[in-house]
Amino acid sequence: MPLIALCAGDGIGPEVTAETVKVLWAIDKKHGFGFEFVDAPVGGSAYDLFGTPLPADSLEKAKKADAVFLGAVGGTKWESLDYSVRPERALLGLRSELDLFANLRPARLFAPLIDASSLKREVVEGIDILVVRELTGGIYFGKPRGVEEYEGGKRGVNSLVYTTPEIERIARVAFESARKRTGKVCSVDKANVLECTELWREVVTALHDAEYPDIDLSHMYVDNACMQLIRNPKQFDVIVTTNLFGDILSDAAAMLTGSIGMLPSASLSGTKGMYEPVHGSAPDIAGQGIANPLASILSAAMMLTYSFDAPSAGAEIEKAVAAVLEKGYRSADIYSEGCKRVSTAEMGELVIEELGK
Ligand code: NAD
Repeated sequence: MPLIALCAGDGIGPEVTAETVKVLWAIDKKHGFGFEFVDAPVGGSAYDLFGTPLPADSLEKAKKADAVFLGAVGGTKWESLDYSVRPERALLGLRSELDLFANLRPARLFAPLIDASSLKREVVEGIDILVVRELTGGIYFGKPRGVEEYEGGKRGVNSLVYTTPEIERIARVAFESARKRTGKVCSVDKANVLECTELWREVVTALHDAEYPDIDLSHMYVDNACMQLIRNPKQFDVIVTTNLFGDILSDAAAMLTGSIGMLPSASLSGTKGMYEPVHGSAPDIAGQGIANPLASILSAAMMLTYSFDAPSAGAEIEKAVAAVLEKGYRSADIYSEGCKRVSTAEMGELVIEELGK
């Protein structure tokens, strides 16, 4: 029986997770996956109960589970805590303990939401990009690092470090993902000035030539990639890049679609994965029942595709979401005149209704 650890977290986290679980039950009823769920408290609410944002028991549950679902963590209540016990530490802890080295962030524009984008309709219409970001290496973890006294002042140091196996494993995720899509990968680096990304380009190319010659591979410098994402985003299918560049590019790509309430994500290590909406705990709207649960529900669709080898069930959820939007239903964050405004729970119910058709 596939076991899913539920880390609902804080703020709107539990609200969107509740709707996501209902959707997973509905898809389970259709396909007979036999999902089992186990609660694994994390974040500020876990700190309140156990004095740590990532209790050992929750980590153990996450390790034992076949997949982890996370709502969101954080909130004003815990902002004055020491960094070591802030709710967000739970995310970093889970990522590193589960060795989730590949972060997948799709940026797909649902046609009925086209006017939410700040770009012209003809530029964004039909975009469907997947940013594959390396998540456990690169400049965020490289050593030496720190701030030190230097010649009467100070000197800050961070190091960009990648090894051949680290580059190979993330490139493999990108190539495999591209095979399930349109077969195109653009590898983004800064090989003209950073030796480490010169190696990145070399390794990606060698792996492509040896094992993925069917994939259409291109390379782009990160500055140009930023421009191209805004100028002509439709040229991209899968983008693979380093931790730092991926952090920036995935946010830029995501915003092409206009709404943070619609963006899912997956962080993977093989088929083991943690799935979470891109948004945070939204303390400003928590407890009001108005949060958009679709990013969370779409993250569950990614879970079916990447952890449970059921891409067609994942696609069913995506189709149901598209149908609900097509019919004019909107949560407050994506509401526009003439549409039907619905609550978090109503949005969940509508998706389930579509799944039943
Ligand atoms: P946020 O994503 O929580 O909210 C930004 C804005 O978007 C807010 O106005 C919010 O109301 C709105 N919003 C976000 N998700 C929404 C949804 N599903 N439906 C409708 N509106 C939505 O970002 P923030 O305000 O910068 O951060 C709030 C807290 O969340 C902080 O403590 C931060 O550290 C944490 N955070 C957690 C994660 C995570 O758990 N993965 C990610 C980002 C931020």
